[in-house]
Formats: sequence, C-alpha cells, structure tokens
Amino acid sequence: MTLNPNSIEARDVAYHLHSYTNARRHEEIGPIVIESGEGMHVTDTDGNRYIEAMAGLWSVAVGFGEKRLAEAAARQMQKLNFYHTFTHKSHTPAIELAEKLVAMAPVPMSKAYFTNSGSEANDTMVKLVRYRSNALGQPRKKKIISRIKGYHGVTLASASLTGLPNNHRAFDLPMEGVLHTTCPHHWREGRPGESEEDFATRCAEDLDALIEAEGPDTVAAFIGEPVMGAGGVIVPPRGYWQKIQAVLKKHDVLLVADEVICGFGRTGRMFGCETYGIEPDIMTLSKALSSSYLPISALLINERVYAPVAEQSSEIGTFGHGYTASGHPVAAAVALENLAIIEEKRLVEHAAEIAPYFQEALGSLQDHPLVGEVRGVGLIAAVELVTDKAAKVAMQPPGSMAAAAFGLIQKNGVISRAIGDALAFCPPLIVEREHVDTIVEATRKGLDQLQ
Ligand code: PLP
Repeated sequence: MTLNPNSIEARDVAYHLHSYTNARRHEEIGPIVIESGEGMHVTDTDGNRYIEAMAGLWSVAVGFGEKRLAEAAARQMQKLNFYHTFTHKSHTPAIELAEKLVAMAPVPMSKAYFTNSGSEANDTMVKLVRYRSNALGQPRKKKIISRIKGYHGVTLASASLTGLPNNHRAFDLPMEGVLHTTCPHHWREGRPGESEEDFATRCAEDLDALIEAEGPDTVAAFIGEPVMGAGGVIVPPRGYWQKIQAVLKKHDVLLVADEVICGFGRTGRMFGCETYGIEPDIMTLSKALSSSYLPISALLINERVYAPVAEQSSEIGTFGHGYTASGHPVAAAVALENLAIIEEKRLVEHAAEIAPYFQEALGSLQDHPLVGEVRGVGLIAAVELVTDKAAKVAMQPPGSMAAAAFGLIQKNGVISRAIGDALAFCPPLIVEREHVDTIVEATRKGLDQLQ
C-alpha cells in the first residue's frame, strides 16, 4: 500500500515508533488513526466508526468521551496543576484517592502508593518486596514467582514477571530472581480426563515443588492476575486460588494480586479478588482506576508490608523511591471522579447483570468450526481459534489466524484484540445488550469470512 506522503498516516510512519507493533510491517501498511470517541464507540480519520470491544486497552470502564472526567481534569488543572508527594509534601487529590482506595479494598490494607502505569506499580512492588525482606533480616528471601502467560508490564522487572516470550526475547530477560510456574489454563494445559479441580491441585503442587526446590527462605512473593488478561483471558480452574493461597501461607510467601485489568468491576465484582476469594498482601491497580483518561496506577499494601518498609525507611532516613508524577493531582482528581461515576451509575452491578448475556452470546460461537474454546467471566472473554477442534491446533504460523480474524472483525465495525490464537473481548462496563449482539454478529461474520 502506498500512503499519501502528506497524510497523517504517512507522518505516523515517518516519525512514530509504535508499541507492540512489527515496525517494518507498519512502514508498509501504516496506522488506523483514531480521532474521537463517545460511549462505546471510536471513530477513525476516514470516518469509520467502531464498537471498542476492548475498552481501548482493557481500560475505558466508563466509556469514551465522559465529560465529567474532562471537567474534573480542567478544574484540578486550574487549581493546582502539579505538585509532588516527596519529602512530607501532599495535596488533597492524592490524599482523598489514597483514603478512597484503602476504604474500597476487599481486605484490610494500610496504605496506597501511587505510580503512573501498571508496569511501574509492579516494578515498585518488586522493590517493596526486596526492601521488606532486607528490613526483616531475610536478605535471601527475594525471589518472586509469577506464571507462564501472566502479564505484569514492560519495565525490566515487570517484563521479567510477565510470562510471555516476546517480552523477554532479545531484551535479555527475565532478570535473575524471577521464576515462572504453571499457567492455569485447563483447556490447554489439563491432561486428558483431568477435572478442573484436579488440574488446580496440580498447579498448586507445581508451585509447592518450585518453592521447595528453590528453598522457601529464598522466595518472597507470588504475583498473579485474578483472571489472566493479556496472556489470553485465562480464567482460573475451580478451586485454584484457594489451593495456591494455602501453598503461599505454608511457605510464608506474600501474595500480590495484579488487579490492573480485573480491578473496578471487570469480573462482575469490584475486584477480581472478591470474585475468587483472594486475600492479597499487595494489590496493584491501574487502567479502570481512571478509565485511562489519564495515566495513574496504585499499590495497596497491608500492614505486613507497610510496617517493615516504614521501619527500613526510618533506619535509612528515607524511602528512596518515587516518581515525579506519583499521585499527580490532575490524574488523582480524574480517578476520584471516575470512581464516583462507577459508583453512581452502578457500573459494577451493571457488569454483573449483563455478564451472563455477554458470556452466553459469545459462547454461542462455540458451534463455529473455527472455535476451540470460548472462556470468560464478567465482562472479559476470549474466543480461541482452531483449525482442528479435537487436536486444539490453529493455522501456522502461530497467531496468524487470530490476526486475520481480528482484521476482518475490525472491517465489520468491531475492535477486538488478537492474542496468540485467541480473540479477546473486554468492553466498557457501560455495554448494553445491543452492543453485545453487534460484537457477536461481527465476530461470527469475520470467522465465516476466514473459512
Ligand atoms: N498488569 C496487567 C494485568 C496488565 O494487563 C497490564 C497492561 O496491560 C500491566 C500490568 C501493565 O500496565 P501498563 O501497560 O500500564 O504498564
């Protein structure tokens, strides 16, 4: 394709290196330039309107173009555009947001700490865990375990936690001290005839064996998303979290819940931890925290984490960590308004109400010859594509089938996301039945076109 040299697409190719994009392929085909958004929809510069069935990047919970958030940002920017939270300084938006998040937490939490992305939140988590172990006089207890296909971000530490090859390959990752355990995907990893419960037991046994092999005195924390998102929307098998938590308790290993996607209603409860009975020591939050209107993320830490960290900072003289924009007042004000909208519009309750319709409608694709598995919970789901249902194999090269299907579905007016051989769906929480119908119709049509 030749791009008009002065077009916005050609300028993008000329000047812009994209995230998660094949740069050479991008030079050939250029971008789709999204220009505006309203509610469930976004529109590109050619005037094509799409249902954003991924809420952007799993994030725009309240929908696009929410004026209350623009107004909250403008109000705060005019009052105090910036102030920091270093060396005993604070400001009202950060204080109010910290108070709100601690109050919302599904288990007792002591403090909120602010960062600017999910990656920074998880990176900060790694540092807090190390700092804590040193404070407790356990300098060997530093290793962190995550899961194959877990997604925790892209900084050196958070990309190491991420259990996906493309986040490691050619970056010389993972770094030392990060280990990966079994991916809890029953359909893919379960043995023939193995029940979900038995598979969950095996996942917990694998974790136990890994901790034993490394030495429990060297393992500090385990991190997991309640439901894996960017690894392909992997819903844990029945009983999984209870069994995992028992292993962690036995070995005195901290539990970190990465709620960056699940947090704020995605699974039909306020937090994924509530959906699965998870009792974390640390939670990391982002995305729907501000519906991605501005970048902001947070960690919630309990007293087991806070007390030694506070002691250590006192001994050293400071907690030597912090981002210029930690708790940025405009981002914090937007997050507060976003949470107010989620509560006032009862979006978590709405998500729970519409979830069965959403899951059943997508589940109806299971009869399609190219669909191997449809999985999901709440308002997050994936459709796994195959060419052979029994063998659970897709077209070669890996990922090509979902990439092709994604393109066709997008032409049919719906933006999904291709992950490996799966298509992911994670619409704004304001989704209604008619949007679900359009999403499923566009997807079925795209799969028919692919055949
Ligand atoms: N954790 C999870 C569960 C995520 O899904 C993501 C991003 O998709 C991250 C962490 C990283 O967040 P960010 O892209 O804001 O750095």
